[in-house]
Amino acid sequence: MVRPSMPAHDVLIIGAGLAGQRAALAAADAGATVAIMSKVHPVRSHSVAAAGGINAAINVADDWRSHAYDTVKGSDFLGDQDAIEIMCSEAPKEVMHLEHIGVTFHRNETGELDLRAFGGASMKRTAYVADITGQAILHVLYEQIMKYSDRVDRYEEWFTTSLVLDDDGACVGVVARDIRTGVMETFSAKNVILASGGAGQCFKPTTNGLICTGDGIAQAYRAGAPIMDMEMIQYHPTTLVENGFLITEGARGEGAHLLNAAGERFMEKYAPNKMELASRDVVSRAEQTEINEGRGVGPNGEGIYLDITVVPKKRTLEALREIVNIGKDFAGVDITAEPIMIRPGQHYIMGGVKTDVDGQVPGVPGLYAAGEVACVSVHGGNRLGANSLLDTLIFGRRSGEHAAARAAGLPMPAASEAQMRDDAAEIASIIARPREGRRISEIKDELGTTMNDNVAVFRDEAKLQHAHEVVRRLKEEAKTAYIDDRGTVFNQDVLGAIELGYMLDCSEATVVAAIERKESRGAQFRTDYPERNDDEWLKHIDISRNGDDTPHISYSEVTFTQWQPEERKY
Ligand SMILES: Cc1cc2nc3c(=O)[nH]c(=O)nc-3n(C[C@H](O)[C@H](O)[C@H](O)COP(=O)(O)OP(=O)(O)OC[C@H]3O[C@@H](n4cnc5c(N)ncnc54)[C@H](O)[C@@H]3O)c2cc1C
Repeated sequence: MVRPSMPAHDVLIIGAGLAGQRAALAAADAGATVAIMSKVHPVRSHSVAAAGGINAAINVADDWRSHAYDTVKGSDFLGDQDAIEIMCSEAPKEVMHLEHIGVTFHRNETGELDLRAFGGASMKRTAYVADITGQAILHVLYEQIMKYSDRVDRYEEWFTTSLVLDDDGACVGVVARDIRTGVMETFSAKNVILASGGAGQCFKPTTNGLICTGDGIAQAYRAGAPIMDMEMIQYHPTTLVENGFLITEGARGEGAHLLNAAGERFMEKYAPNKMELASRDVVSRAEQTEINEGRGVGPNGEGIYLDITVVPKKRTLEALREIVNIGKDFAGVDITAEPIMIRPGQHYIMGGVKTDVDGQVPGVPGLYAAGEVACVSVHGGNRLGANSLLDTLIFGRRSGEHAAARAAGLPMPAASEAQMRDDAAEIASIIARPREGRRISEIKDELGTTMNDNVAVFRDEAKLQHAHEVVRRLKEEAKTAYIDDRGTVFNQDVLGAIELGYMLDCSEATVVAAIERKESRGAQFRTDYPERNDDEWLKHIDISRNGDDTPHISYSEVTFTQWQPEERKY
């Protein structure tokens, strides 16, 4: 049965971070009717936390090919070069577009856009707004979307529970719950764009917000879509030892040093040319090696010093003001006067829903993905800092444009309400569970610490097999784990139970892919297979879901255009 009131749109976007908002703007610009849905207020999306900046070859001495080569090398040659070429060649225009719609990028003394150094880049190419770049861009995009009140509907604080497919396997809508009231609704759409962000919460600690629970990745996986590069988990070199908060790479971009217990700039040993600005996987491994070999700092020797005092104080207060506050508030350290203790911490997932360069998901017509939820794959084995904001915007825009064009030729589908009834029944059964056994939050905790202990910077078969066993057990336990809140209004407890299911699916895919890849490449470093092995492993691992809810592994080719694999040194 289709109720006459069922919302229906040309393009329905799940997620209102940078990828979702950029997609909405592009689709609306192209004349489509759009809905954008988010489980939090749009400007609270994790994109708001992005600090250091966005890469683009806008300096006259720079060239997008140099940016593309750095990205390919950063990816440890696993990135798809056709997609990387698109991202890097379209970057300058995209950054200029942001500037023109009102993003107040930092300017230098001569009035040009200023650029800062970032890891793995052969020259300064990161545009920034102090260290609040994500917030600045997100707010401007939100203002821009407001001007389309005639064609962009906003569903703020709505939680998408499932994708809806028609009998031919095309995506024709979603099911969502209004968080404020608990009401469930089916939404029809000619196209659905997943822009629902990453899955950092599978790890504890993480730099990611509490909302980064891999919802879109799991929803696509459950709907039969392939997910790719899931083994590639980025550990950021500078996160606070106490709580995993991020200290932006902008700090090292501005010149900060990394020091071990002997006060040595140990990066000399690991990356003599780029030092602290080698790619993130390289710097994180170097730090972890220093810590493991007893040269760490702090009470348990599990930290490294980040010394920002070498940056002129005036510059720190101007260009890194947010981390001045973070240092004071969350570590009790004045970073302009003393070093701060950091260590590698989970930050980003390179993998996600497999897409082509227009965001289309193979095998599921009408389904798109863009941003951290997606895997185009521009980041391959390791993402360069400040390339993610770029990825969200370029592929968000391309998805929005492509979906709007596709919508023009299609009749409006009427999504079946059967999935909504299933999801409503599932929610009712979670709420009704007896309060015995384990709590959802306990399982989430065990998942996060298990992933962080076993699927981190250094991996091996035994650790990965252990993580796999734990994840399988937690999947079973989650089926009966209980929650406290039995209400309908803002019941975050029940949403937490659903999110836990998504995180378990994402973690299982990550662990299974990490076990499968028997080599070291990018963020995957296997102490039992310490070499990169191009003969056997220069390929993507794709994962789809078997009927018995286990991951099915297949492979796909890496796309090469101009750059052949070579030894990677910084
Ligand atoms: C602390 C931090 C700093 C960073 N700094 C930088 C940087 O300087 N430069 C850089 O390039 N990258 C940076 N990154 C990475 C980058 O910010 C993210 O990868 C990027 O912003 C992700 O954007 P997104 O639009 O894909 O998703 P997000 O911004 O995470 O947005 C996801 C959206 O999906 C919605 N959503 C999720 N699930 C559901 C659901 N079930 N129902 C409804 N809505 C849902 C959320 O409400 C949200 O609106 C940083 C990341 C972190 C964590």
